[in-house]
Amino acid sequence: MKPLQAAAAQGRNNATAGVYGARLRFWFPIFLFALVLVAYFWRRGEDWRWPELAWAVAALLQAAIRWPHVQANRANQVRIQRVDRLEQWLMFAVFMGLLCLPLLHLATPWFDALDYRLPDGAPWVGAVMMLVSLGYFHRAHVDLGRNWSPSLEVHTEHRLVTQGVYARVRHPMYASIWLFALAQPLLVHNWLTGAFGVLAFGLLYALRVPREEALMLDTFGDEYRAYMQRTGRLWPVPQR
Ligand code: SAH
Repeated sequence: MKPLQAAAAQGRNNATAGVYGARLRFWFPIFLFALVLVAYFWRRGEDWRWPELAWAVAALLQAAIRWPHVQANRANQVRIQRVDRLEQWLMFAVFMGLLCLPLLHLATPWFDALDYRLPDGAPWVGAVMMLVSLGYFHRAHVDLGRNWSPSLEVHTEHRLVTQGVYARVRHPMYASIWLFALAQPLLVHNWLTGAFGVLAFGLLYALRVPREEALMLDTFGDEYRAYMQRTGRLWPVPQR
């Protein structure tokens, strides 16, 4: 068995980690996406638009990249968890803004009154941003490994990761989600189902990052303090 699968199997017998998405089954997102695509072609017919489909493919790939880590995360024994109501509400807003609302927009005409128009080049910029986002999202998951969690957690075997994409940036996964959120309104041209996700993720990011860094400082102390000195949050700092 591969390490991630073994961890997932072990997790079924343990107190499990992860408060978001931990009980999701594999077939459900596949079924949902298939349903949305059928509804999309039903309603748009000949008038289908590649940027909206590109968004759907990117969202599906993002879920596929994360899937094995959600599974593996079940095996983690949580030592500290810092999740409050506000964070849960903001996670819900992000889930709506970056996944549910765009899916509903593809499947139904409910939000069409809030559509906007962009120049023809805009979706191409969005598509390139999506590609970069997915590559970075994948790398961050590989480098963070079992230390990843969807909520703020420290596990019993938690280790500070400072290599790979974490070598010069502290939040590469959030950087990749920023790219996804900013690319989305270039592909899904709607104020609510395209652009709202940027606001939702911006709020979650603003709340979470100081809390996450405080948690890391409480857990790793001087090691994390030194790491903060040589890294930037989303962008590398110039090295002296
Ligand atoms: N903020 C990071 C990680 C997001 S996942 C990024 O954007 O890439 C969130 C979890 O990762 C948190 O619960 C925290 O425990 C853990 N974490 C964050 N930075 C870490 C690091 N450098 N090493 C190990 N775990 C880390």
